[in-house]
Amino acid sequence: MVFTDPEPWQPHVWRSELKDAVTSVAELGRVLRLPLEDCDEGAIAGFPLRVPRPFVARMRRNDPDDPLLRQVLPAAAEKEPVSVLPDGTRLSVDPLRENDYARAPALIQKYRGRALLIATPACAVHCRYCFRKHFPYEDHSPGRREAALAVLREDDEIAEVILSGGDPLVMTDASLGRLIRCLDSILHIERLRIHTRLPIVLPSRITRDLLDILASTRLRVVVVVHANHPQELDSDTARAFACLRGAPGITLLNQTVLLRGVNDAAPALCALSERLFAQGVLPYYLHMPDAVIGTHGFHVTEVRARQIHDAMAERLPGYLLPKLAREEPGRAAKTVLA
Ligand SMILES: *Cc1c(COP(=O)(O)O)cnc(C)c1O
Ligand code: SF4
Repeated sequence: MVFTDPEPWQPHVWRSELKDAVTSVAELGRVLRLPLEDCDEGAIAGFPLRVPRPFVARMRRNDPDDPLLRQVLPAAAEKEPVSVLPDGTRLSVDPLRENDYARAPALIQKYRGRALLIATPACAVHCRYCFRKHFPYEDHSPGRREAALAVLREDDEIAEVILSGGDPLVMTDASLGRLIRCLDSILHIERLRIHTRLPIVLPSRITRDLLDILASTRLRVVVVVHANHPQELDSDTARAFACLRGAPGITLLNQTVLLRGVNDAAPALCALSERLFAQGVLPYYLHMPDAVIGTHGFHVTEVRARQIHDAMAERLPGYLLPKLAREEPGRAAKTVLA
């Protein structure tokens, strides 16, 4: 076998692919050769359809049940006035009460030793089940980051900063570089975690400059990507991960949201774990969807979730079994269900 270094993408590619994302249901229908007119445009207001073309390219043509399409296509159910799930869980706009845990604008700390920085409100893709769909980004504007940095400098218990969003990799290399250099200069911070969907939905985001930024910090870098279905992984994601792994000391993990009609079956999730591993990524969490208003169509009961997870445990080596977890406000850690 011949090994060659994987090539990062040229810097202009992701910028133009980001601008060129599909934002109209009619166009998505044309590309997929599907009549999508029965989708409710009203559901789109405030959280419009947005999906980059490299992700669309991995959807099956002429299949309304395609698991990638289901994640991004606005559905009429989003506007149904459902406020309680069949198992009694109440839905709300802010089920995680993230606002209560803000230590400064854009800085959320729920757990000891690690704090989450909202790096940008923007995302490359709009996932219909997103728990930050209704997040008051205007109160957490990255333009007011000084207060957050002051807290990080002050509190030497914080050893890990998690960049989240939105999607932190939507930031340009220049502004991401500035932010990381800033964190790098705070000596008690040891680890930098980046939660991002871009290596999946827009693999061309992996540029030489980005790799240089990640390679030149003294911080240990953990990149947590977000893939929900094996069909999301192809030769481009493999190339993106291979580039990232080439940067010294980077750990690559994946988190998945368990979604009805998308990936609520053990065979699909086992295939996802195996394909992730084949591409150099370890499964981390399998999340129960958060109880956000308008996302009831995606919810899986806890009983069903445990069944699926048990079936996965029977087929996968332990290191490929993600932790089944749920986010509950007021706890010292995420609740691990299995
Ligand atoms: C999920 C989450 C974390 C990270 O938790 P880990 O179990 O370390 O992955 C940190 N902060 C917030 C606010 C979170 O929601
Ligand atoms: S990429 Fe993440 S933050 Fe952005 S819409 Fe999807 S789930 Fe939400």
